[in-house]
Amino acid sequence: MHTPPGFVAAHALPDVLAAHALVFAFQDARLAIVGPDEAPAIPVLAEATRAGLDGRLLMLGTLAGTPCVALALPGEAPEPPGMRLSGLRPLFFKLPEAHLAIAARAFQIVEFERTHRFCGHCGSATRDKGSERAKECPACGYVVYPRVSPAMMALVTRGREILLARAHRFPPGMYSALAGFVEPGETIEDCIVREVREEVGLEVGRLTYFASQSWSFPHSLMIAFTAEYAGGEIRCEDEEIAEARWFPADAMPPLPPSVSIARRLIEATAARLRAT
Ligand SMILES: [Zn+2]
Repeated sequence: MHTPPGFVAAHALPDVLAAHALVFAFQDARLAIVGPDEAPAIPVLAEATRAGLDGRLLMLGTLAGTPCVALALPGEAPEPPGMRLSGLRPLFFKLPEAHLAIAARAFQIVEFERTHRFCGHCGSATRDKGSERAKECPACGYVVYPRVSPAMMALVTRGREILLARAHRFPPGMYSALAGFVEPGETIEDCIVREVREEVGLEVGRLTYFASQSWSFPHSLMIAFTAEYAGGEIRCEDEEIAEARWFPADAMPPLPPSVSIARRLIEATAARLRAT
């Protein structure tokens, strides 16, 4: 996910919200959608009002001038009349890409609201900070921002070979790059060297930035690199990694779905190595 073209983020609701404003309403991780299964759409404010959706609207920004707001639906409420609730993953390639990206953003904002109603320091009820997207504690002044957790992804290469690994949780046969969360005190580069060493026992160097991707499940920022093999023998960490091995760049196994940055990273790197 990334910021869609034409989207301008904002956190303050306008005095009057247009009837054609897009409403990204979540019940836990499920989004309220309208329209047929094969062509789902985000409800506009007029439809949301008609369906009786109720709750505090949270401003997300504007998409080509159209206001976009998020809304948290009560956990036990039945599906609103005329709407369906769907996880985001089944909506990939069905919702317009810009709407999907804003929905992912909305999910994170709704989660932030839901989990920061009280101060983590003194327990008082928080309030909106007002000047920016943050919660502040009126009692002790503690301020919290929506959480974004940086994670790194590393694709290790050795000549024209690529190291891919299978985590226990992967679907059968699928391989991907290595990934892990950054720890306090680490740079991304430190994290890559540590994760590769911990997960497969290899040393790497010559890190090259590839791209990053926001991943709202629940609040990751995946930062992808390639890294060159610098020594060691594969030795998998049993708890997480089922298997890791070298694949020739022209014989890739089944890979993660194309919406993932892992797929783009692996395909771009394999293409580059094949051309050398
Ligand atoms: Zn406090």
